[in-house]
Amino acid sequence: MASAFIALSILSSCVTKVQQFRLSDECVYTPEATTFSVWSAPAEAVELRIYKTADSTDPEVIQMTKAGEWWTAKVSRDLKGQFYTFRSRTEGKWNEENPGIFAKAVSLGGDKGAIIDFKDTNPEGWDSDVRPPFTRTVDAVVYEMHMRDFSIDEASGMTHKGKFLALAETGTKTPEGLSSGLDHLRELGVTHVQILPSFDYASIDESTLEKNDYNWGYDPKNYNVPEGSYSTDPADPVSRIKEMKTAVQAFHKAGIRVIMDVVYNHTYDAYGCALGRMTPDYFYRHNEDGSLANGSACGNETASDQEMMREFMVESVCWWVNEYHVDGFRFDLMGIHDIETMKAIERALHEIDPTIIVYGEGWSATQPAYPYEDLAMKSNMASVPGVGAFSDDIRDALVGSPFTTDGGLASGFPGREEGLRFGLTAALGTPSAPNYKPWTADPSQHVSYVTCHDNYCLRDRLQLARPGASEKDIIEMDKLAQTAVLTSQGMPFIFAGEELFRTKGGEDNSFKSPDSVNAIRWSQKAHYIGLFNYYKDMIAIRKAHPGFRLGDAKLIADKVSFPEVEGENVVIYRIDGLAGIDSASSLTVVFNGNPKPVEVEFPEGVYNVLARGGEASVDGFGVIHTSHCTMSPYSATILAGE
Ligand code: CA
Repeated sequence: MASAFIALSILSSCVTKVQQFRLSDECVYTPEATTFSVWSAPAEAVELRIYKTADSTDPEVIQMTKAGEWWTAKVSRDLKGQFYTFRSRTEGKWNEENPGIFAKAVSLGGDKGAIIDFKDTNPEGWDSDVRPPFTRTVDAVVYEMHMRDFSIDEASGMTHKGKFLALAETGTKTPEGLSSGLDHLRELGVTHVQILPSFDYASIDESTLEKNDYNWGYDPKNYNVPEGSYSTDPADPVSRIKEMKTAVQAFHKAGIRVIMDVVYNHTYDAYGCALGRMTPDYFYRHNEDGSLANGSACGNETASDQEMMREFMVESVCWWVNEYHVDGFRFDLMGIHDIETMKAIERALHEIDPTIIVYGEGWSATQPAYPYEDLAMKSNMASVPGVGAFSDDIRDALVGSPFTTDGGLASGFPGREEGLRFGLTAALGTPSAPNYKPWTADPSQHVSYVTCHDNYCLRDRLQLARPGASEKDIIEMDKLAQTAVLTSQGMPFIFAGEELFRTKGGEDNSFKSPDSVNAIRWSQKAHYIGLFNYYKDMIAIRKAHPGFRLGDAKLIADKVSFPEVEGENVVIYRIDGLAGIDSASSLTVVFNGNPKPVEVEFPEGVYNVLARGGEASVDGFGVIHTSHCTMSPYSATILAGE
């Protein structure tokens, strides 16, 4: 099935207009010649500078030839192992040199492009790498992880701590003898990992890795190259590429797909990066006074509405799919991008493979310098079919908004019932949530979650809302919240380490906190094995019951209801008429967010009990004929109708 990844014929579909060159062909190597082509419409001249080594300061300078808005050069000798930069002249001034906007391999630190043969970057068996079977977005269970957090702990059992290669290690164990790493993810049952920024970012000095600097990586430098600090040898341009491919290949072998977190909405430095240096100002939006617009709150916002920025983003995601076999994308601050661009990306990706998942944050940090109605904001998602957005609705209903210290239904705060009902139906709208405006057209557009890398992790968030609560109660609240995520009709998403009762010690913005805050502590698996097993069982229950992932707006409208219930902080979520869809005739989930037991009445029937009192089992705890249950504090009951 290597044909699934034959790149060249497919990549052509990514080009949104007929043009002479592709941005992604900026540097194309063969032993006979290397050709360079770079776009810069306003340039008066462009130089190609070839360096024999990464450290050289003495380039061979070649004047590039103008071809419309493009600049080209061909060097007819074997340049493998050498480096290059470009330099453009605009308005009579030479701009700083840079590796080009579409560098695909770079030097240590990413200031020079590297001339490599991509054949050298393929791990053994790469030609037969295939995406694990997967069809519908709502069948996914996504696990969001940071490369370093996942393996850096001394107890991780992994050898290549903090590196891409750790993800390819199998047979690893915690000190207590439980599975860790990739085996742990297989045991948990997630279908996709979403890796925090793994393209080349600026904030880590790749030459001083022994300092163990930490960053999430939301500071893009070279969008089409893996981050050097995750490789075993960042000075070797092939190493980071081969090792990231090795990680993707290992995930695929384990049956897990890989989603990349992409951050096209801003760059680390608008004038210090290739986009700003090749074609100053073109790739960024500006305020009326000419200053840089800043919808990202990181100093600038890119202009996806500019034709070549849109083309850049489309070709970039296609590059990651075709060259690295990536299976999906999470767009950071997607609300900064215009709808047309997200549609172009969705079309290009789904032409390659309709099972590629695309979603993002349907918001921006501040208002972008572009009309709100034309942006890929959450409230506009119905006009961007095939692209999803994170649901702050279900998050806030379950654990509370990150802008408050209040909790949600899972931590016993009343008044969140309607928000939960809305979230369980994937924001499609339900008569049981009349005050919520639908924002999806399809359930696959709804990312159901309570926590991610941003803000507090779940344990800390629950503790914040209930400072006096016992650890046992916090664990029960945790299970209750994730039961809603994992039974919702949207696409469930969990943050790495929540299944091990991870804490960041109350740090709510750990983007550059040390490992002591961010690392997943693997010894917690044995300590909180009951919680881990609950997550595992809930994922198995979701997979076993298609009723929780109906995948169709009309089916959801027909089959999902919320029977009336007495008292606050209780929601009954009922999925009926499942003949031909599910092995159960109906599914009933009862959520009790109260700190005390409650009695709940529901339609009489014969049910297999899949979850109750903080325990879950895909096989069930036995069949009962009943019309009511006694719910323990902060718990969910799941009943499968016979
Ligand atoms: Ca870097």
